[in-house]
Amino acid sequence: ALTAGIVGLPNVGKSTLFNAITKAGALAANYPFATIEPNVGMVNVPDERLYVLSGMYNPKKTTPAVCEFTDIAGLVKGASKGEGLGNQFLGNIRNCDAILEVVRCFQDSNVTHVEGGVDPVRDAEIINLELILADLDSIQKRAAKLEKKAQSKVDDAPAEFAFLKRIEACLMAEEPVRTLSLSEQEEKYISGYQLLTAKPFMYVGNIKEDFIADPDSDPDYLKLKAYADKTGAKCIAISAEIESELAVLEDDEKNEFLADYGVTEPGLNKLVRATYDLLGYATYFTTGPDECRAWTFRKGMLAPECAGIIHSDFQRGFIRAETVAYNDLVKCGSMLKAKEAGLVRQEGKDYVVQDGDVMLFKFNV
Ligand code: GDP
Repeated sequence: ALTAGIVGLPNVGKSTLFNAITKAGALAANYPFATIEPNVGMVNVPDERLYVLSGMYNPKKTTPAVCEFTDIAGLVKGASKGEGLGNQFLGNIRNCDAILEVVRCFQDSNVTHVEGGVDPVRDAEIINLELILADLDSIQKRAAKLEKKAQSKVDDAPAEFAFLKRIEACLMAEEPVRTLSLSEQEEKYISGYQLLTAKPFMYVGNIKEDFIADPDSDPDYLKLKAYADKTGAKCIAISAEIESELAVLEDDEKNEFLADYGVTEPGLNKLVRATYDLLGYATYFTTGPDECRAWTFRKGMLAPECAGIIHSDFQRGFIRAETVAYNDLVKCGSMLKAKEAGLVRQEGKDYVVQDGDVMLFKFNV
């Protein structure tokens, strides 16, 4: 499974948030074969559609999709120079498929700030720079290796070398690589480079409880949002404090607690959905009297690949997929009525599965 790494300066609320994630953890029973490391948290993806489908089918079991988070503690200034455990942390980030950076927006004189005072843009810039320097180092090494081949015009070496130079210029201007627009060929090159600043990136502003009903009323959060926008990253707001308190409440107490803050759902729900999207994930459903289930696939996957997520036999013997869009199924009220309305399609092996598709795979054994 793909994983989103949580990074951030010390004392910004990473552990508080990660603990809330682990406490809200997906039932391990659904994932008997997953080895869960202590720094990995799995959370059910909150998806109202699954519960609507369950309402239609009354299955014995309802199984949500999950999203995985990895806690990468200890990224500090100087990491790119291998200071402290810098290299190890950068290596851990390299293994993640998307990066979430927790940035402190909350003011609290009881919590020390390693850089002096609350300044989310400065903090974001510190980590941005470390990641940029680490990428610059690896791009320059790569360019040095390719230079001779490029000069003697071996294969496509000149084109790739020129691309490396373009990346270098981008990084020298302190811009993350994700801000570059790439050709198809460049996408291919870059997938082999494992650049940190090319990964999907999202800022998670840890704001004070008072602002949670309307995060945009927090001026520090607004500054972070503008910075995120400029650097090609997404941005959401959360209160790690609220999430950690929620984690220990009973379900019926949760709603009341949230209502007191003027919000209708836990920030964690928002975070999980945004992360799922950041990872390039989408959901298809299977339904029936035994189980209604949400399955995770990567956007762009074809029907046989999606079948293979359930079982490799489904992919090997794939014949076709009986498919109906969630909205169509719900609008009609039952599979039978959707069929009568001609909304259930027979899709073949070239079908690109869409988010919200309800699938029934037909296969040879
Ligand atoms: P980490 O070093 O980034 O993992 O930060 P921690 O999660 O350990 O948090 C550092 C300190 O800040 C702890 O004392 C937390 O209780 C406190 N803290 C974390 N999030 C919040 C928050 O949203 N509001 C307030 N007031 N304090 C917080």
